[in-house]
Amino acid sequence: MLRFSAFLLVCLLLAPGPATAQSPEGAPPDYDPAIQSMVEAVDADRIEADVQAMVDVHTRHTLSDTTSDERGVGAARRWLKAEFERISEACGGCLEVKYQKTVVEAGETDRIPSATPVYNVVAIQRGTEHPDRYVLMGGHLDSRVSGIMDSTSRAPGANDDASGVAGAVEAARVLSQHEFESSIVYVGYTGEEQGLFGSTHAAETALENDWTMAGVLNNDMIGNIEGISGAIENTTFRVFSQRRPPDLHEDTWSTRYYGGENDGPSRQLARYVATQAETYVRHLDPILIYRLDRFGRGGDQMPFVDRGFPGVRIMEAHENYNRQHQDIRTEDGVEYGDTIDKVNFGYAEKLTGVNVATMASIAAGPPRPDSVKIGGAVAPSTTLSWTPVDHKDLAGYKVYWRRTAAPRWQHSTFVPADTTQHTLKNVVIDNWFFGVAAVDEEGHESPVVFPSALRD
Ligand SMILES: [Zn+2]
Repeated sequence: MLRFSAFLLVCLLLAPGPATAQSPEGAPPDYDPAIQSMVEAVDADRIEADVQAMVDVHTRHTLSDTTSDERGVGAARRWLKAEFERISEACGGCLEVKYQKTVVEAGETDRIPSATPVYNVVAIQRGTEHPDRYVLMGGHLDSRVSGIMDSTSRAPGANDDASGVAGAVEAARVLSQHEFESSIVYVGYTGEEQGLFGSTHAAETALENDWTMAGVLNNDMIGNIEGISGAIENTTFRVFSQRRPPDLHEDTWSTRYYGGENDGPSRQLARYVATQAETYVRHLDPILIYRLDRFGRGGDQMPFVDRGFPGVRIMEAHENYNRQHQDIRTEDGVEYGDTIDKVNFGYAEKLTGVNVATMASIAAGPPRPDSVKIGGAVAPSTTLSWTPVDHKDLAGYKVYWRRTAAPRWQHSTFVPADTTQHTLKNVVIDNWFFGVAAVDEEGHESPVVFPSALRD
């Protein structure tokens, strides 16, 4: 898929593309004009119309009315399912649209007073070559006001998190016009504010069904550009990532002596998102935050990360607490409430573009190498080896390295598809960290894999 047209190829050759290091002979390009045009197809007005549709149901609180077609979380989930079905109709039925339901029992948390059904709305765009490999974009459909149990007051939740759900819907509109090798999942969770119940159920289901998860992109609040500090700024965004909690991963020889506390799969995904943003979304710089979420707070990526899936939270750079979880009111001249007039849709469009580029690149590209091994102690050179990746237009692999204190990968070299081992001459293993990614002929890469074992 994503073949270059001759015209685009000529444009690409003539145009000054993104700055790149000198590539070795035969290396694929690291820019795909087809992905650029997908990013540019994302439309702020459609995102706004979707946020308006969600705001119009008065409240989407998880404990709100489920029977009315005008009000409450039931109306919201039926709207979202119908919207995914409309998108599917427009692509010849390319989306599998369904509810994913669980029941949260009374007493599981004091935020759920009686047994409550929690629904995720899920749309799957099935991949042509790796149908069981997934990249997922989601946001939460439920909303709240000041009182966490208040399920009747008007809770527009325009930014938190109709913006994230609308981003997923718009991504579905754009990406469903194309075919990809891996599957793409678009989700609206509920039960987030009451305790991440929808995303927990989604992550459990993925685990039970043995999904190979290439990445989980949680989008929660992607439309605010006026910070509580007064800063107004629309050129940066945040990507939160952290490896699964220490008590859940073994303290092995590998994690102790290879380094890698900075190199779990979620951190590699975050770096990947940053590179996609820099490559395809103009006037937008990523801020990588090496935390699971904001200080003392949480989000729908966490249940996935806890189960070993790579997951990140993508969100605005500047939050405004007067516009989150607030009753709508004016106090001492300050307007409180998460209303639609405060959302910046041009900014939500750019953050949706980051997701579109990331999902298109991952879903078009090869799976990551399963297992990467490393060796080179007490030697001048470092050797990496990996299991070959099966992918129809695999070009080869990229071996990455960086200084141990550097936050992002700094160097890479390409090796062709028949290679499963590479020696970096005079790169001393002690002084760098290393990783390997698979890459196809059009330059789509897998996320990087950090070594997990010593070479024999
Ligand atoms: Zn939220």
